[in-house]
Amino acid sequence: MIRKKVLIVGGGFGGVKAAIELSENPRLDVTLISDRPTFRFYPALYRTATGGVSSEASIPLERIFDNKPVSLRIEHAAQLDSPKRHLITKEGHTYHYDFLILSLGVVTNYFGIKGLKEYSYGIKSLEQAVKLKHHLHAQLIDERSPDLNYVIVGGGATGVELAGSLGEYLRRIMRNHGIEHRAIHIDLVEAGPRLLAKMPLNYSQRIATHLHQLGVRLYLDQTVQGESADSLMVNSKPITSHTVVWTAGVTNNPFFAKNGFSITDHGKVVVDQYLQAAPDIFVLGDNANTPYSGTAQTALYDAKFVANNIARHVVGKQPLSYVPKKPIYVTPAGPHWAAVAWGRVQLYGIGGWVLHQAAEFRGFHDLLKFLPASEQWVKEFAEEDDCPVCATASNY
Ligand SMILES: Cc1cc2nc3c(=O)[nH]c(=O)nc-3n(C[C@H](O)[C@H](O)[C@H](O)COP(=O)(O)OP(=O)(O)OC[C@H]3O[C@@H](n4cnc5c(N)ncnc54)[C@H](O)[C@@H]3O)c2cc1C
Repeated sequence: MIRKKVLIVGGGFGGVKAAIELSENPRLDVTLISDRPTFRFYPALYRTATGGVSSEASIPLERIFDNKPVSLRIEHAAQLDSPKRHLITKEGHTYHYDFLILSLGVVTNYFGIKGLKEYSYGIKSLEQAVKLKHHLHAQLIDERSPDLNYVIVGGGATGVELAGSLGEYLRRIMRNHGIEHRAIHIDLVEAGPRLLAKMPLNYSQRIATHLHQLGVRLYLDQTVQGESADSLMVNSKPITSHTVVWTAGVTNNPFFAKNGFSITDHGKVVVDQYLQAAPDIFVLGDNANTPYSGTAQTALYDAKFVANNIARHVVGKQPLSYVPKKPIYVTPAGPHWAAVAWGRVQLYGIGGWVLHQAAEFRGFHDLLKFLPASEQWVKEFAEEDDCPVCATASNY
């Protein structure tokens, strides 16, 4: 039997799930190309930035594919030659495919705003999250006083999660180091009229109220115009800060524009009812123009859908059409508090937080077996500090 070659690009939610789903199919030969050796569990990055364990947000791909017949290549996909069915990497290797699955995720967009790239922090990668954590700690210790303002730009899920957990982490550092208690000013700046613009209005409002109770100041309808070393210009007024975290902008992976894919006005790749951008080229997750693109749940769902159609194809069955699935929205915002929107049901507070824990475990278990998924999940409850004072203090 000649095995068909499935080439998957992207070691994130969509790519890894597709590889897991297809790996046991004896008619297929699966290769996964990723430009990094680790899988990023994005939902945990805000915790890493605020005192959590960094290995919770980063899982070696080799661990995920341990004992699975997936050929793993750490390379950067650069160029597509679709007539020849070739994908060429920056490292100069050419891979042939019968089916190509692309799940490359999005990249940060600063919209050309002056100073942001140089001075702002981010939490879109483990490196960025760790850098922010070190900055928060070092600045408090050096100056023995909090920054005048901690500014988070972007009222989407990432901005809300970080705004909700930042205050507690800063207070913990102050407590550990015996720094006199000072008020902490956390500002959440959003260009639109409300937080979480895609969510129902009452959901946004409940989260806004809760953040307000935690002491977070909301600046809605406010546009960032530039950043310098010690301030952020918002609606023509400066906010003094050495800590600006940019969570407001992403754009599709440049691979698609460079390789002539058809792209919508919103920057997403045009796909048909089988998530194909061209014959036998499938685009998943954040890259594809589907109604619920932009969540890990959608990337996982897309991966299962495409894997199933490829499995059907190799046994001569007709492909199924894509039916978009609305994700369950879960937004943690501070200690033991989360908002959940599951269809028409909404839940807030400790009950939401319990569901949030269940969703996180499910996220790990989608990629790992029960035991390693449990080990990964319990890391959420641990703290990690390079500073010996904080490390000792947090043990008590
Ligand atoms: C801070 C943050 C928090 C989030 N929290 C949640 C949440 O709580 N719940 C939720 O549902 N969603 C959340 N999301 C969104 C979710 O993480 C994404 O929707 C999901 O990761 C999309 O999966 P993907 O496979 O499309 O892309 P990704 O998971 O981003 O994977 C893309 C992969 O492709 C690799 N890659 C990129 N370019 C190349 C190339 N040229 N060659 C080879 N490899 C390449 C990347 O390194 C990466 O490994 C969050 C996102 C962020 C940034």
